[in-house]
Amino acid sequence: MAEIVIVGGGPSGAMCGEQLARSGNTVHIFDEHLAWEKPCGGGLTHKAIQRFPFLLDNPYPKKLIHSIELIASNEQRAKLEMRNPIVIYSRMVLNGLLLERAQNAGCQIHRSHVVAVDTSGEKPRYSIEGEWRTADFLVLAAGARNQLLPETRPLQRDELEITQGYFIPQAADSIIIKFLPHFDGYIWSFPRCDHLSVGICGSMASHNQTELRTHLQTFIGKQRLSTEAARFYSHVLPSPQVPTLSQRTVVGKNWALVGDAAAFVDPLTGEGLFYAMRSGELLGKAIAEGNPEMYTDWVRAAFSCASIAARSSAPRSLPAWFNFCAAVRSSARSWPISSAARRTTRRSSNASWDISA
Ligand SMILES: Cc1cc2nc3c(=O)[nH]c(=O)nc-3n(C[C@H](O)[C@H](O)[C@H](O)COP(=O)(O)OP(=O)(O)OC[C@H]3O[C@@H](n4cnc5c(N)ncnc54)[C@H](O)[C@@H]3O)c2cc1C
Repeated sequence: MAEIVIVGGGPSGAMCGEQLARSGNTVHIFDEHLAWEKPCGGGLTHKAIQRFPFLLDNPYPKKLIHSIELIASNEQRAKLEMRNPIVIYSRMVLNGLLLERAQNAGCQIHRSHVVAVDTSGEKPRYSIEGEWRTADFLVLAAGARNQLLPETRPLQRDELEITQGYFIPQAADSIIIKFLPHFDGYIWSFPRCDHLSVGICGSMASHNQTELRTHLQTFIGKQRLSTEAARFYSHVLPSPQVPTLSQRTVVGKNWALVGDAAAFVDPLTGEGLFYAMRSGELLGKAIAEGNPEMYTDWVRAAFSCASIAARSSAPRSLPAWFNFCAAVRSSARSWPISSAARRTTRRSSNASWDISA
């Protein structure tokens, strides 16, 4: 059986490792933080729960949310009840759960920083603790910020979003989504068990950190939230365009990218957890079957990556962030949709995953 090294123990790496270890491979997962509070909303959609029921059926703390409040750019509000809850985790808890499953399946988990990788030889190499080591296959699951991208290009500014937020020690029972005038992004408040993850995302090509910070502070003030005991975070999020998905190489002869590293994120909503876990699962299966090159086709089929033409002729198949975009579209008839939502809806015709995935 093969020796497989996974760089990154987030949802994509842990899920991939679990699959590979279950099929008898020797798997090493290297992560510099292991289970940590990665900047994130932590929200899992119904499709994630359907695909991975263990995300609901476990004793780990999580919050089930049944309602979303939408706030348009003109401050009009609409509250929606959802048939299926959004399940919200702290990322430290979610990462811990997934790593524990990987370890129980047989993965060896190490807290280490991988400094560099080299896939030019027959066997891939990785550099750790001052020495180069070899493996049979290298899985790069190191997230959106990482620079370990063999034989493919890094994401450009227009393929990334900037995000900022706070973990605020306060309670709530509804998700809030707020659109802004002339702003390519949105603000969210996701209630977790013992705090809120409140944040903002916006296109890196169109907006800057100061702009995001101002919008976020205004929202926090209007919602009467306090940042006094809150922890600030900021991170990047892939926002794939058609060329990102159709032209960027995600698998080579002895390596592959999964999750955020592969830019498998819903470009409209920023939902990434489901795509990270599913791409990790699919890559694990493809390698276990001795056919890693099948991975590209499998992820495309699973995520229903569509072309511009297909999207423009089939606007109803837009993806949804926790169902809210569908709600925005339907309420738009009687409820003034924000210019941001309109622009976001237009943007989704560039590249998107199918909501039915
Ligand atoms: C602010 C924000 C809010 C979000 N909210 C949501 C949400 O509510 N729902 C949702 O579905 N998605 C959300 N996302 C997206 C989601 O967080 C990502 O899609 C998801 O974390 C991707 O998982 P991953 O395993 O690919 O990468 P990551 O979770 O980023 O994991 C990568 C891991 O690699 C490790 N690593 C990196 N480099 C190295 C190295 N050189 N050596 C060793 N280890 C390394 C890191 O420590 C990390 O643990 C959000 C993203 C952001 C930025």
